[in-house]
Amino acid sequence: MTAETRAVVIGGGLAGMLASAVLARHVDRVTVVERDVYPDGPQLRKGVPQARHAHLLWSGGARAIESLLPGTLTALADAGAHRLHLPRDIVWYTPYGWQTRFPGSQFMITASRALLDWVVREKALANPKVEVLQQTDATGLTGSAERVTGVRVRDKDGQESELTADFVVETGGRPSQTPKWLAALGLPEVEEDVVDTGIAYATRIYAAPAGTPATFPMVNVAADPATGRPGQNGALVPIEDGRWLVTLAGTRGGEPPTDDDSFIDFARGLRHPVIADLLERAEPLGPVQGSRSTVNRRRYYERLETWPAGLLVMGDALAGFNPVYGHGMSGAALGARALDTELTRNGLADGTADAARRAVAEAIDGPWLLATTQDICYPGTRNHAKDPRIAPREQDAQAFADLLGTAALYDPVVSAAAMQVTALAAPLSSLESPHLVAALRKAGQHTELDGPPFTEAERAVLEGDSAPALTGA
Ligand SMILES: Cc1cc2nc3c(=O)[nH]c(=O)nc-3n(C[C@H](O)[C@H](O)[C@H](O)COP(=O)(O)OP(=O)(O)OC[C@H]3O[C@@H](n4cnc5c(N)ncnc54)[C@H](O)[C@@H]3O)c2cc1C
Repeated sequence: MTAETRAVVIGGGLAGMLASAVLARHVDRVTVVERDVYPDGPQLRKGVPQARHAHLLWSGGARAIESLLPGTLTALADAGAHRLHLPRDIVWYTPYGWQTRFPGSQFMITASRALLDWVVREKALANPKVEVLQQTDATGLTGSAERVTGVRVRDKDGQESELTADFVVETGGRPSQTPKWLAALGLPEVEEDVVDTGIAYATRIYAAPAGTPATFPMVNVAADPATGRPGQNGALVPIEDGRWLVTLAGTRGGEPPTDDDSFIDFARGLRHPVIADLLERAEPLGPVQGSRSTVNRRRYYERLETWPAGLLVMGDALAGFNPVYGHGMSGAALGARALDTELTRNGLADGTADAARRAVAEAIDGPWLLATTQDICYPGTRNHAKDPRIAPREQDAQAFADLLGTAALYDPVVSAAAMQVTALAAPLSSLESPHLVAALRKAGQHTELDGPPFTEAERAVLEGDSAPALTGA
């Protein structure tokens, strides 16, 4: 008889649930260590305070989650999540102008973060191989610099114990303690890059006006990094139960207020007032909530010369991005899929953790670059990164980005190419494809849209004369 194999996951957030789903395919038993008590339904909890704010799940991440936990997207739809086709279902004021609403092949899931987490958690924990120790804190790693053999934990009564494991995945999010825990095992300091725009978030949930069509689009007014002013943006996101979740954000020097009275004023001061106009017709369902947990921080575990067998770090614990790009959850999902590939290739062999740390780092490199290379354009950004790629664009590269951004507004081929990168469904390098270059050459004259491209029924919501509908938003 062979001995039972066991994996331990530190932190049962979204990345932890996806890691558990992967590990359950390759070991006999998975134990998740989670500090919080899980709510019974789609509710907020202490360990994920950012859940109050807009959480967009791009198709690159959504497809990865579906491949690891089949049926998740249907379960989300059944629970009221919206599936927005991109760019058809978004009224989007990009830095270059209004985006034409082409059908497109990418999509985005919009729902409250609490609902997203709940559906994924229900799916992951339905696997009988996965157990959770709630109200339990991971306090360190056991083993040596050559091999991690388990996790030290403390339960709610303060009792300390050790969980032995063949494989440990740390997904404790931004407060990750792994650099400290590795130092205790005798490993050197982990290199880290930080790019901090100082961006602050303010979010308020509204009831959509009566009669709003169920297909009402997301509305997004993006910041324009070329203005030299702090980046201010807003997103009105349709979520379950006929609600609009509205997140406003501003980089250092342009932060949104967090008092209820000034919320709409800030929205009116964006590059276009459309979100403010819509909010005048909607009913707030609670107070404004703020967040400043937004810094781009990447830890380069893949650069350590030696790496203990049996350990991997994933999700925000590995790399947290400025949330304005909406890539955190998708990055975690792509990382989980990379782990699955490595475990499928080599099982629990000694080299798997080493290969997985490199594969996971590669999976998050795209979103890391998308966020940081854009963020350094805003005044007041503190760039503490040593990554030489995080530098102002050369003139040619900027000219290409401007051409791409402008042509994507009115050319469906260019739009699809740009959208698949934004949705993390294709790598940044796909923008070099001959297919796209040819489309860019052809993209010549165009007529700019002179205002938000709403349909007649959507415009009726804006103008306050929408007919009562049978279904809510
Ligand atoms: C304001 C804001 C808006 C965002 N918007 C988006 C968006 O639109 N789209 C998107 O994709 N991403 C977005 N993100 C990013 C997203 O929230 C994160 O990428 C995602 O939550 C990462 O998941 P995670 O599981 O790695 O970490 P978390 O969700 O932070 O979960 C960590 C878990 O570990 C537990 N834990 C931590 N330490 C321990 C320990 N020592 N012992 C036991 N348990 C522990 C915590 O209780 C928690 O359950 C946003 C982030 C912020 C701040």
